[in-house]
Amino acid sequence: MGYDLIYSEACFLLNEGDAVELSERSVVDRVPKDLFIGGEWKKSSDGKRFKVEDPATKEVIAEVADGTPDDGLAALNAADLAQRSWGRTAPRVRAEMLRKAYELTVAQQDDLALLMTLEMGKPIAESRGEVLYAAEFLRWFSEEAVRVKGEYYMGPEGSMKILTQKQPVGPSYMITPWNFPLAMATRKLGPALAAGCTAIVKPAELTPLTMAAFFHILEEAGVPSGVVNLVHTTDPGGLTKPLVEDRRLRKLSFTGSTEVGKMLMAQASHNLLRLSMELGGNAPLIVFEDADLEKAIQGAMLAKLRNTGEACTSANRIFVQRGIAEEFSLALKTRFESLKVGRGTEAGVEVGPLVEQAAVDKVQRLVTDARNKGAKVVAGGSSFGPGYFYQPTIVLGVDSSFEIANEEIFGPVAALFVFDTEEEVIELANSTSYGLVAYLFTESLNRALRVIERLETGMVGVNQGLVSNAAAPFGGVKHSGFGREGGFEGIEEYLYVKYAAINASTL
Ligand code: NAD
Repeated sequence: MGYDLIYSEACFLLNEGDAVELSERSVVDRVPKDLFIGGEWKKSSDGKRFKVEDPATKEVIAEVADGTPDDGLAALNAADLAQRSWGRTAPRVRAEMLRKAYELTVAQQDDLALLMTLEMGKPIAESRGEVLYAAEFLRWFSEEAVRVKGEYYMGPEGSMKILTQKQPVGPSYMITPWNFPLAMATRKLGPALAAGCTAIVKPAELTPLTMAAFFHILEEAGVPSGVVNLVHTTDPGGLTKPLVEDRRLRKLSFTGSTEVGKMLMAQASHNLLRLSMELGGNAPLIVFEDADLEKAIQGAMLAKLRNTGEACTSANRIFVQRGIAEEFSLALKTRFESLKVGRGTEAGVEVGPLVEQAAVDKVQRLVTDARNKGAKVVAGGSSFGPGYFYQPTIVLGVDSSFEIANEEIFGPVAALFVFDTEEEVIELANSTSYGLVAYLFTESLNRALRVIERLETGMVGVNQGLVSNAAAPFGGVKHSGFGREGGFEGIEEYLYVKYAAINASTL
């Protein structure tokens, strides 16, 4: 896989021969298992640890420090102290550190990818794709660090000059999910460090290892003590509350479920924190009769099965226009039935296990509800062991009243709806509280532009099943949250505008 390849279709589709040769044990053994606070690896304040499991085998692969609220506050102390100097570091210095971190991440992609596969299950080729995608945020924001600008101009009445400058928001707390253990953090750390903010990262308890390995990289890249801090815990609520209520904290960036996001937003209101909320999705994927069928199938495979369907951008509802519905579903069934499902470290595996038993139970509940309401399961439909596996599944004849149409499936299950008109499908696509991403397949430019305009989502994929790109603003509307990560917009989340009114008569 090429050095410069960002997270592209190739990562998902070309994984033949990617058998893992590295020793799993030695890669896990090399990862620091403690918390990283004020530039030192530390045990948790009460000495407790928690277990990390391989979802393909249910075996415990490591034990890591279980951070306490005291550890969280120690991390904030360190971040607050470091903020004073970090915010004034030359942008070029910050840029060079990010660039170094980018290079080290790319150089260590095999180890990072293996760790990711071991702790969350995705196929190794996809893990490599995520590592490279994650690294891109470091490269992109190393380039953005030196382009933060202000303005200086005469006020309209001529009596004063207006000077604006952008300054770092300050210590930022970042909470990330397990489904993209590295990229969801670099999407926050890249712009924060570029802008001059210090950080406390709390990764998901299911996937602490990849982030710990990455913190080792940040250390090697020369990021000063206290600028980045890592606290993993089995008590995210207990750790978070005192942090968001402490007035030294200035920003909360959260990626995770809408439910937790709303709760955190309420907590953060006490301290009026700057917020970025990257929340859940319920993406519609729309295939019009004038689509190129092969492109649509490729796009649906990627949008549905990337990350074993455990993605906020996953195609949750697949709408196919009546004239091609049968042809589309048969072609999709053929592709689904040829997929190799297994432990992500094995050569050729395209679909890994789900992350935990609760995920399998949820997918099963949604499929059972659809079946009970008259939908047809034409491929897959059950779970299997020894890990948390679920067969790639296709459910035909779904309608908006089914649970599967209204909840994030977060599994390898394609729910197919049939529609007749453009007007009807736009209405259906928008009939959800979420608004992260939509995909549409059509060979008509006019139709594409018309539909893009009317979809209530932050992002739209046109004739492709992937929108993620470090150079593009990722984010949603409605209950999918607010704020943008990546692109030119990403760094603004960590900057505030200071304005000075300068009396023109003094000039
Ligand atoms: P989750 O909300 O359960 O957990 C996300 C993070 O929040 C984890 O680190 C968890 O420990 C933490 N958390 C849980 N309860 C908390 C509390 N009370 N206080 C503070 N932190 C708490 O979500 P998940 O199951 O880990 O991740 C899947 C969800 O993330 C899905 O809804 C998915 O759509 C969403 N997601 C969104 C994006 C995006 O960019 N919009 C990207 C990836 C995932």
